[in-house]
Amino acid sequence: MTVIVAKELTTALTALREHADARLIQGGTDLMVEINFNHVKPTTMISLRDIDSLRTVRRDQPGILSIGSGVPYSIIEEEPVLSDIPALAQAARTVGSPQIRAAGSLGGNLGTCSPAGDTLPVMFALDAMIHLNTLDSSRVVSIHDFMTGVKRSVRQHDEIITSIDFPIVKGWQGYSKVGVRNAMVISVASTCLVADHQNATVRIALGSVGPTIIRCREAEAWLKANHDLSAGASISLDIAGEFGKRAAAESSPIDDHRSTAAYRRHAISVLASRLLRKAYQ
Ligand SMILES: Cc1cc2nc3c(=O)[nH]c(=O)nc-3n(C[C@H](O)[C@H](O)[C@H](O)COP(=O)(O)OP(=O)(O)OC[C@H]3O[C@@H](n4cnc5c(N)ncnc54)[C@H](O)[C@@H]3O)c2cc1C
Repeated sequence: MTVIVAKELTTALTALREHADARLIQGGTDLMVEINFNHVKPTTMISLRDIDSLRTVRRDQPGILSIGSGVPYSIIEEEPVLSDIPALAQAARTVGSPQIRAAGSLGGNLGTCSPAGDTLPVMFALDAMIHLNTLDSSRVVSIHDFMTGVKRSVRQHDEIITSIDFPIVKGWQGYSKVGVRNAMVISVASTCLVADHQNATVRIALGSVGPTIIRCREAEAWLKANHDLSAGASISLDIAGEFGKRAAAESSPIDDHRSTAAYRRHAISVLASRLLRKAYQ
């Protein structure tokens, strides 16, 4: 196997175009597992780890935090992400162990595109935008168009995810997940809720309960039509419970080795109602 350690983005993009079976590697926390189990056998690996431009957190545009695809979770847990996108910092803190968080990245979570990826519900709830580059072009894709199925996305072979833009929302946001134990666990069900106090809206996205992350547009619309969602409003236990049930009704879980569909639905209902109550405490 040939390993190309790129120091510049153009070096990686050139190598990617030249090698049809090449695989990109950032932290390696997903890809090396696949290789160790012989699920994939690339003859060329292109390491992105030494490309500094992929490891920056920038606030160049007003109201947007742009996070490089190679920024590890251990950085995402801290400022400025902690204050600007607290749900993302919270999701990052739930990923694996300190060792995994020192290596794993948003680019890798998007590259794998599992419905259990912890940062993806945050991207869906915040309408994040994904930047993709080839050697001679670039495009920006909404997260809603990026993920197309279980471990499937619109990314083409010669494209590298360079950064992810997160709108900075004034209000409250949080991420919660349920797993089979408290740490080092892939989620059985997860939820990100964003309360936009300025626009009096709530957005909610679910992980591990469908082939893609699910945005609960109907539950969101019901809540907006029936309740005050501005700053200072309060949400009763009954409303939160009904919202949780409506969010769970939009999920599409399956039975598998980690859980049953019925338990996943119940977990979503509890997570969604708890997050909503927290947002309006
Ligand atoms: C013990 C353990 C625990 C884990 N726990 C969790 C958990 O709790 N939650 C969770 O969500 N995940 C978990 N994971 C999975 C993994 O850590 C994450 O998905 C992580 O985000 C992967 O990032 P990476 O940089 O290591 O990706 P890599 O392994 O380097 O790459 C993953 C995939 O993305 C592609 N890729 C990487 N970077 C780019 C890029 N810039 N552009 C295009 N494609 C790219 C690669 O080609 C590959 O297909 C765990 C893994 C392990 C081994």
